[in-house]
Amino acid sequence: MAALPEPDLVLSFEEARHVVETHAAGVRPHGKELVELLDAAGQILAEPVVADRNFPPFRRATRDGYALRAADLAHLPATLEVVGEIKAGASLVESAVRVGPGQAASIMTGAPAPEGADAIVMVEYTSREENRVSISKGVGSGDNVVPVGSEAKRGERLLEPGIRLDHAAIAVAASVGRSHLLVYSKPKVAVLSTGDELVEIEVPPGPNQIRNSNSYSLAAQIKEAGGEPALLPIARDESLRLRELIADGLESDLLLLTGGVSMGKYDLVEQVLAEFGAEFFFTGAGIQPGKPIVFGRIPAGGDGDATYFFGLPGNPVSTMVTFELFARPMLEALAGMTARKLVFLHARLKTDIKTKTGLKRFLPAVVSGEFDHAEVELARWEGSGDVASTARANAYIVIPPDRERIPAGEWVAVLPRS
Ligand code: AMP
Ligand code: MG
Repeated sequence: MAALPEPDLVLSFEEARHVVETHAAGVRPHGKELVELLDAAGQILAEPVVADRNFPPFRRATRDGYALRAADLAHLPATLEVVGEIKAGASLVESAVRVGPGQAASIMTGAPAPEGADAIVMVEYTSREENRVSISKGVGSGDNVVPVGSEAKRGERLLEPGIRLDHAAIAVAASVGRSHLLVYSKPKVAVLSTGDELVEIEVPPGPNQIRNSNSYSLAAQIKEAGGEPALLPIARDESLRLRELIADGLESDLLLLTGGVSMGKYDLVEQVLAEFGAEFFFTGAGIQPGKPIVFGRIPAGGDGDATYFFGLPGNPVSTMVTFELFARPMLEALAGMTARKLVFLHARLKTDIKTKTGLKRFLPAVVSGEFDHAEVELARWEGSGDVASTARANAYIVIPPDRERIPAGEWVAVLPRS
């Protein structure tokens, strides 16, 4: 019989997270593909995006007003001669106006500042009479004009590979004329739910059976994190079939199992993984829900890569939480994303919390309030099997292991549900 992992591989939350982050730093995404710009939104960029010209390409006016020489406004009000008008998109001829001493050109936001002018006065501080403009407020040299190339120089890298392409990154790609982008291929993530009580969702459950919801919550989380879920059939609590299905799962880039990792007599997952020669990095973390979380790797046969796996506890809320805390950073690394640290936000606690000490808790919670008044309170729940309560929540309150009571009004750490 293969050796089971040491029983004392229970780490603190922070230690366990760091172990995953260290392993995630060593994995690489598998492929790249060229996709249309809009299909790239949400995907991980696989190439640098470079400025194809200077930004801005010309000295851009940032206000409607008058382009002039700041030095001409030493005494106010000043009256200047208007020598032309330049609008955004002005032709080379229109923008060839030259502003000399004592002169000004009417100019619109987004237009090229004319030669000779070093600043723009906002139209609000001017009054125009035919070809003369009277100006009531001074400006500094360079005010309201963005110099050529000050935002980015031609050839400069604007986006680095490894970022998730959000709308701002898409704007950058569009502004340098990229209609297609190279993104990383999505890693394939096998999902294997285990348990004799489970039935597939199309099957009417018997009185003591429950539907397999974990495979679906995980598939949704995998997609959201940038992976391609591959759902395997339910594994019964029986070694032979479990072994076959784990072997199938090892064809993927990452294997997620749920259930069968607790201390029950039929919790066989670790035993069967050990038979595959698994290396276990931890078999528990000091958290609730999710304490029996297992993380490890199975060496490759041949010259392929080892496959990482997570044995997630079967309780549906534990499965969701442990995916977010541990599986997500590994999946993101396989998807090509540059590592980022997990950070909690803070909100003011609405009602007192009483808990037991010893574990770091991630309890379903509702963040409410408005603008700069974020409030949070625990969702009423019946424990880590309560999906209905979790679905009504929008965050988790993070409670340190040493707190027994947290009074209303205190700022508490919150992990928003992404
Ligand atoms: P286990 O981790 O196998 O001891 O399961 C813990 C609890 O989660 C039990 O109440 C299971 O019935 C439930 N459970 C396990 N797997 C699933 C699943 N795939 N979908 C929904 N509930 C599950
Ligand atoms: Mg079970």
